[in-house]
Amino acid sequence: MEQVVGPKSSGGKAYDQSFAREVYQKVDSGEEIKMCMQCGVCAGSCPLKEKMDYSPRKIFTLIRAGQREKVLSSQAIMLCTSCYSCKVRCPRKVPVVDVMHGLAHYALRQGYKPREETALFGQKFWDNIYRLGRIDEKDVAQRYFLGHGLGPGIKLMLENMNMGLGMMRKKRMKLLPERPIKNVKSLRKMLDKAKALGKGGAV
Ligand code: SF4
Ligand code: SF4
Repeated sequence: MEQVVGPKSSGGKAYDQSFAREVYQKVDSGEEIKMCMQCGVCAGSCPLKEKMDYSPRKIFTLIRAGQREKVLSSQAIMLCTSCYSCKVRCPRKVPVVDVMHGLAHYALRQGYKPREETALFGQKFWDNIYRLGRIDEKDVAQRYFLGHGLGPGIKLMLENMNMGLGMMRKKRMKLLPERPIKNVKSLRKMLDKAKALGKGGAV
């Protein structure tokens, strides 16, 4: 197993490079991590940073430090919502979002599972896209909340009511139900194929 010695700031700790090599070779867009200069802009831009156990920047550090278990069992890689804030702001043009999804798919292939509620949200999100061809945020939220059971679901709805009202005020969520897009059946065929290739679907 190849090891290199880290910089003085790491206390001269020996780093195991085998996981970094595994990521470069086997994870979609994994090689792009080599361009990261650890500036932290992606971490500062991520709207989910409070919910993530590790920021995208930290995930890249852990990969370089050989922390395979921490990275592949991380909830951060499963939580990324593809908002693209990190990708458009990265000064080194690292496609952070692609790497995060690449890591999530790789972790799933290796038998790691997302947290139950992350899997539930993913299922409702996927169902919504499959049914409508677009996201109806309130429909996803309601189905996700009620997926916890009626009582806990109503409690979650009340806890998140202000956020929902705020989204409506900012025109990020409509009061009326969204209609399916045109040719939604064609989209479903593509989604079925993606799922068969292991590139989509809820987990
Ligand atoms: S913004 Fe880009 S260069 Fe900076 S830490 Fe994130 S991935 Fe690395
Ligand atoms: S694309 Fe993912 S990792 Fe990047 S800022 Fe958005 S949620 Fe965070």
